[in-house]
Amino acid sequence: MVYSAEKLSEEKVFKDPVHRYVHVRDRVIWDLVGTKEFQRLRRIKQLGTTFLTFHGAEHSRFNHSLGVYEIVRRIIDDVFEGRAEWNDDDRLLTLCAALLHDLGHGPFSHAFEKVFGFDHEDFTRAIILGSTEVNRVLLRVSPEFPEQVAEVIAKTSEKKMVVSLISSQIDADRMDYLQRDAYFTGVSYGQFDMERILRVMRPREDQVVIKKSGMHAVEDYIMSRYQMYWQVYFHPVSRSAEVILTKILHRAKELFKNNYSFKHEPIHFISFFTEQVTLEDYLKLDESVIMFYFQIWQEEVDPILSDLCRRFVNRNLFKYAEFDPAKEYKKLAELTVLFEKAGIDPEYYLVVDSSSDLPYDFYRPGEEEERLPIHLLMKNGDLRELSRESEIVDAISGKRRTDHKLYYPADFLEDTASGAEWKKKIRALLQ
Ligand code: ZN
Repeated sequence: MVYSAEKLSEEKVFKDPVHRYVHVRDRVIWDLVGTKEFQRLRRIKQLGTTFLTFHGAEHSRFNHSLGVYEIVRRIIDDVFEGRAEWNDDDRLLTLCAALLHDLGHGPFSHAFEKVFGFDHEDFTRAIILGSTEVNRVLLRVSPEFPEQVAEVIAKTSEKKMVVSLISSQIDADRMDYLQRDAYFTGVSYGQFDMERILRVMRPREDQVVIKKSGMHAVEDYIMSRYQMYWQVYFHPVSRSAEVILTKILHRAKELFKNNYSFKHEPIHFISFFTEQVTLEDYLKLDESVIMFYFQIWQEEVDPILSDLCRRFVNRNLFKYAEFDPAKEYKKLAELTVLFEKAGIDPEYYLVVDSSSDLPYDFYRPGEEEERLPIHLLMKNGDLRELSRESEIVDAISGKRRTDHKLYYPADFLEDTASGAEWKKKIRALLQ
């Protein structure tokens, strides 16, 4: 039997708190899960620094990746199979892309990408096409298969239907992370009736559409995404931890460039600092390695690096104040001067952080980020864009919400052993 069609002699199941079970019958999927690059995802948390706010949020990208695979598998095997507009030859491609879609995520991805200026999507592609165990499994399917999988994940594939199952405004990726993140954080917002949504999904030409009768379940899904963003993903305390994390990486890079002599040489970071990261280096750096460095850097001589690491490890985070960059830029300039006078480096201790989200949008040609709208399939066979039918969705469509905060170490400002008069002025300005 050809490798792509090979089935396991017995179905394997993973116990999953969100989907109850994740079912695997295909040999290719089972082999991919066993690769070291996929196993590495166990050591990358799905929600980065969120565990410092919601202590349950310790789940990994491994959990989530299996979950996305399982949702896609259910859509294909239970809903799409046998329907005229679904081509079952795309089944394995879709399952592999679902399983591997986050393969290139690094430790605390967002902070890392910001400091070292790379994109995890490039690493996903590099792992799929490079000299890796994942690549060897995919090559056994066919010589073109790794490239096909990479194109689906990068959304450049011709197979639009397959792409829309994995990344669109209602895709398996979002449906998994909303429920999973809600489960592990313990909040009640991220829940919606996924079973209902899966049941009303239909393949239609080059996209997945939703039967009109399922509109209310989709409204619930969109509202839960909106709530999760503001209540969990952009939580100001998690952002404080991320600000500190980002500044640790900045500081370490800065010190390295200035030939600072570290007590413990940061060998895992050197290729990041010198911007010559190889795939091998990248794969070695998981969150357990990062935490090891943060532990030992607490003892560094450099006061900024050791202080920031102590803050991260012991959760002594920065406080925050609301900030409007358009109106308060003068205040920020004033604060920067006062921080310098008080002997607190504003580069590391006075940080503006912004979060922004667009909950749902219909198609607007020419926008920098064009979005595939959600289409409802009406009884007469016509398609209608969701916000034209749903008043709830219409109310939040296309409305970008942005939030800015100013982060600073309140404990430093309360310590009056030095710079007391400047600190008093700073505290008054931050009130
Ligand atoms: Zn994902």
